[in-house]
Amino acid sequence: MAGLLLKNISKTYPGQVTAVRNLSLEIQDKEFLVLVGPSGCGKTTTLRMIAGLEDISAGELYIGDRLVNDIPPKDRDIAMVFQNYALYPHLSVYDNMAFGLKLRKMPKGEIRQNVLEAARILDLEDLLGRKPKELSGGQRQRVALGRAMVRKPQVFLMDEPLSNLDAQLRTQMRIETARLHKKLATTFIYVTHDQTEAMTMGTRIVVMKEGLVQQVDTSQHIYNHPANRFAAGFIGNPRMNFLEVSFKEQKNGLCAGLGGVLLSVPPVRGAALRAKGCRQGGKAILGIRAEHLALRPLEGRFPACPPELPLVRGRLEFTELRGAENYHYVTVQGREVVVRAQPEYRGEAGQEVEIVFNLAQAHFFAPESGVNME
Ligand code: ATP
Repeated sequence: MAGLLLKNISKTYPGQVTAVRNLSLEIQDKEFLVLVGPSGCGKTTTLRMIAGLEDISAGELYIGDRLVNDIPPKDRDIAMVFQNYALYPHLSVYDNMAFGLKLRKMPKGEIRQNVLEAARILDLEDLLGRKPKELSGGQRQRVALGRAMVRKPQVFLMDEPLSNLDAQLRTQMRIETARLHKKLATTFIYVTHDQTEAMTMGTRIVVMKEGLVQQVDTSQHIYNHPANRFAAGFIGNPRMNFLEVSFKEQKNGLCAGLGGVLLSVPPVRGAALRAKGCRQGGKAILGIRAEHLALRPLEGRFPACPPELPLVRGRLEFTELRGAENYHYVTVQGREVVVRAQPEYRGEAGQEVEIVFNLAQAHFFAPESGVNME
């Protein structure tokens, strides 16, 4: 069992591409840490440096309390599961799983014991005689996991292991992988560009952009308290709404002006924003999630909302029906805003609507840097 410590790690590829910049991270023993971010943000490079498949340009990497910068991959006591599974097509499931152990000259009886144990945990016992081409995508994925498991590594590294599966199987394997993590009680480091995968699987998430860490925390914390506009927009589906506002001081407190409408900022948050230097006329990007907005048609058929809540007018463009909840896409001052509504709400495309903003749950980001202003 081992935690990891990444100290000021950077990676510059030949040709001066800096893929990872000054990354510092402490990964706890038995943690399920997910590296997430858009394509090219440096996730795979980070994982490959941990695996020892890529040299570290600067910084120190510890696995347990051992500095491993110069330790070859095979001596790092880690196992990696790749996106394409990298199974040997001519070998059976059993031999695929046993392969690495044979190379290490493990006694036959011990190999058999390890393979059978992994096969039992992964529900592969009936498939041990099959070749990879005789397996479904999900089964192949489990064999790839099994091949990593039989080595009983201290750390599992996984690079987009579910991306070749269809949506339904991906959901199922997401749950199975999280369960496996609990069962094995070992450190997992998992790379994905899929924010749903990150949110549902990781004990903690590392959000990356252009080689830089944006935020490290639990998914719930990042969802509710994003450090910056990027993390706010990347985590959560549908994406957080962003609208330009300018602050106005009113008799009743600080307001965020959106077009002609003044949205009152709850007093506690107003005080926090003022303490950070927000003043009359200052600009910000208001970030608010679909569930913190409500909708009512102008005709007033929707249950009355409290009169003190400010309303912003818009035009309902279309509705995405998801069953338990529906999402309505509304154009507000030329910007698209998505609003979650109860299933009984019936809006029609083209209709004029009013949006109720609950600013108690909103965020304000600095227009230039994108940093959360509170
Ligand atoms: P993806 O989700 O597309 O795999 P990623 O977040 O894993 O992306 P990396 O593969 O780590 O990103 O790449 C980070 C940056 O480093 C990118 O700009 C990429 O083009 C560059 N890069 C990756 N591998 C090399 C290499 N071998 N040589 C030069 N540049 C590279």
